[in-house]
Amino acid sequence: ADHLLEVRDLHVEFHTRDGVARVINGVSYHLDAGETLAVLGESGSGKSVTAQAIMGLLDMPPAVIPAGEIRYRGRDLLTMRTDERRRVRGKEIAMIFQDALSALNPVFPVGWQIAETLRLREKMSRSEARKRAVELMDLVRIPAAKQRVGDYPHQFSGGMRQRVMIAMALAMNPKVLIADEPTTALDVTVQAQIMDLLAELRRELDMAMILITHDLGVVADVADRIAVMYAGRIVEHADVHSLYRAPAHPYTKGLLESIPRLDQRGHRLASIKGLPPNLMAIPSGCAFHPRCPYRRDVCADVVPPSLALGGGRTSACHFAQEVLDER
Ligand code: SF4
Ligand code: MG
Repeated sequence: ADHLLEVRDLHVEFHTRDGVARVINGVSYHLDAGETLAVLGESGSGKSVTAQAIMGLLDMPPAVIPAGEIRYRGRDLLTMRTDERRRVRGKEIAMIFQDALSALNPVFPVGWQIAETLRLREKMSRSEARKRAVELMDLVRIPAAKQRVGDYPHQFSGGMRQRVMIAMALAMNPKVLIADEPTTALDVTVQAQIMDLLAELRRELDMAMILITHDLGVVADVADRIAVMYAGRIVEHADVHSLYRAPAHPYTKGLLESIPRLDQRGHRLASIKGLPPNLMAIPSGCAFHPRCPYRRDVCADVVPPSLALGGGRTSACHFAQEVLDER
């Protein structure tokens, strides 16, 4: 059967004056109804770019999509008719971004901005749209929504502004919500509140969610599965419990070891040495080899294929089984 959303062997390049940056190099993942997939990686790993491709934000230069498919309910968004594609992307798949302040217009009340989305998309009357805006603000637990519908973005805290963005994304009752670093700009307690809200809304509204983050610490309670990205590839894919229990890729292992742990307060954190690769000159063989404590000669020469480890788990490492067995 078709997945709700499926990215198949996607490639994305940015053609710049300085050369071609290969930002996505054959990414495949899928999402079924009601599921949450976390896409994890450092900045530049391609996790946001994949989402931007899904949302059609790369349909123009310098971005080029030389290969791949993005299938929604079995139909490829990249080759679909423009009007259909616009309908899917506006209504069925919605996205929220890290920076709620710059996404909101400072000169209009937030309730008006939510209502405008509804008026444009759903052709609602002004009073209907305003009523629905209050309902949406209630839905995302903005206190006293009815009184606050006329307030301006600067009158809301960072966390409340992110709730407004979530309300706008939910206005069309999407089947898929893509959240790109939705809590990164917020302080820690507010981060947890927003993650809880997203998890609750996903259940209440029976949405599927793609949660893009650089922080392995925030996804454990929320995600069903995790895809770990490095240099435009998925290096490991697993259900959350398996991945936390025993990572099967040295990069994931490094990420896990750099999460601050409550039971080891004061211990120095291990972190992954070195820098993410230059996408104009991705290292040969395994792109992670310059930073990998497990590397051997073969790693610089041969691109590791994605190895199936059972239970839907994959790892793109020549020594995946060894890493997995080691714990
Ligand atoms: Fe490390 Fe080699 Fe595995 Fe790449 S293929 S992650 S360099 S051991
Ligand atoms: Mg990003």
